[in-house]
Amino acid sequence: MSAHTSRNSDPDVVVIGGGPAGSTVSTLLAQQGLRVQLFEREKFPRFHIGESLIPETYWVLERLGMLEKMKKSHFVKKFSVQFVNAAGKLSAPFYFWDNKPHECSQTWQVVRSEFDTMMLNNAREHGVEAHEGVRVLDVLFDGGRAVGVKIQNVDGIMREVRAKVIVDASGQSGLLQNKFKLRLWDPVLNKGAVWTYWEGAYRDTGRDEGATIVIQTPSKQGWFWYIPQHDNIVSVGVVAPFDYLFKGRGSHEQIYCEEVDRCPAVRDRVADAKRVTGYFATKDYSYRSKEVAGHGWVLIGDAFGFLDPLYSSGVLLALRSGEMAADAIVEGLKKNDVSAAQLGKWGPCFNQGVDRMRRLVCEYYEGFSFGNFVRSFPQLKGKVTDLLIGDLFTDKVDVVWQPMESIYPPGKTPPKPWDSGTPPEIAANKVNELYLPEGLRP
Ligand SMILES: Cc1cc2nc3c(=O)[nH]c(=O)nc-3n(C[C@H](O)[C@H](O)[C@H](O)COP(=O)(O)OP(=O)(O)OC[C@H]3O[C@@H](n4cnc5c(N)ncnc54)[C@H](O)[C@@H]3O)c2cc1C
Repeated sequence: MSAHTSRNSDPDVVVIGGGPAGSTVSTLLAQQGLRVQLFEREKFPRFHIGESLIPETYWVLERLGMLEKMKKSHFVKKFSVQFVNAAGKLSAPFYFWDNKPHECSQTWQVVRSEFDTMMLNNAREHGVEAHEGVRVLDVLFDGGRAVGVKIQNVDGIMREVRAKVIVDASGQSGLLQNKFKLRLWDPVLNKGAVWTYWEGAYRDTGRDEGATIVIQTPSKQGWFWYIPQHDNIVSVGVVAPFDYLFKGRGSHEQIYCEEVDRCPAVRDRVADAKRVTGYFATKDYSYRSKEVAGHGWVLIGDAFGFLDPLYSSGVLLALRSGEMAADAIVEGLKKNDVSAAQLGKWGPCFNQGVDRMRRLVCEYYEGFSFGNFVRSFPQLKGKVTDLLIGDLFTDKVDVVWQPMESIYPPGKTPPKPWDSGTPPEIAANKVNELYLPEGLRP
């Protein structure tokens, strides 16, 4: 039997990884009657960072049949985002509802071990055959076309699974990105993060209770996320340039405590709280893949690209890329076309959307102030909020860039594009790593 001929037991599609991207693509494919097998190397629930959702996730969650489950969940409702500047001044909240009076303007602060399990179980309910504790060791190729995967289960037993399309949703480990050396490191966004969880830290009340607060450090070197979760827990992390945060600064605990100590807006909020976990850390250099797809394979979520977490866009991008890839796969399988052009036809539009969010991220690191901008251009507050909610895949938001440039200080130029090149000697040393407190697995 040729590798291209599928046996009855073969799935149409194999998905590598059961994070939000993998669950999304597989659910949408199964909804269209395709046979999908998903392999996830961990047993869920497992820890993951990425806890704050943004409103545009609503539309994908709706397609997935997840909305009712989210509404019934105990996840904290998020209506807005707020910024604290280096001087400690709190901006007015950016209420998503003011911009879009629709229920999509309320989103959630999730605990990812719970959210990812809900998403994976939802995929199963839609007919996806999802296996946990099964690692994909490699993608199998025949004449340049991906034709299957080699898997290993918890007992070490290996076998091959053939499929017409392979979706890589393996997150930052980027199975195919590594295999084909497709990763391009962002030349600008080289950050690290250290975080922990607090019980009983300060919480606003009413509709501000679930707001994400982005708190700039007084030195302007970095920022804190402040994400209120259920059970009276708040996730508080600091993000800053990698060298500044980690070089010559001791343990993650020392770094974290120093940064909190230097930042009154955080120090005061956690002063009466109890720390309930150890310290987590990550090198989170932003990157993207040179290609979104090849013959018989496609990359989604962090397996395609990772963008600095400033505006909490990661899960949205995982969901949207999963959705766009699913639509391209369904169409491709109907016309028997699994070429790179077909499976990756959504890539240019997706990249443009990521570019918009990336630009806003870079502008913030280069001194952009939401407060000042909105004071100078009040008519553009809605468009900035569109970006913050993740309405990225449309050019209507591009009206903000020229006004933004008009208030640049002398000599400042727009941020370099993501693919403008990282010096090879720097790129060679980059690797994204996650450090967990003892006893936790990823
Ligand atoms: C510090 C930090 C803060 C962040 N904050 C936010 C935030 O507030 N909001 C937000 O939306 N995003 C945030 N993110 C981003 C978010 O974590 C990711 O973008 C998101 O998890 C991507 O989902 P994914 O499904 O692509 O990958 P993942 O969630 O990483 O899922 C990939 C899955 O693949 C599995 N896997 C890997 N290799 C294999 C293999 N060989 N075989 C089988 N399975 C495999 C892994 O076990 C994992 O479960 C943050 C990221 C960082 C680093």
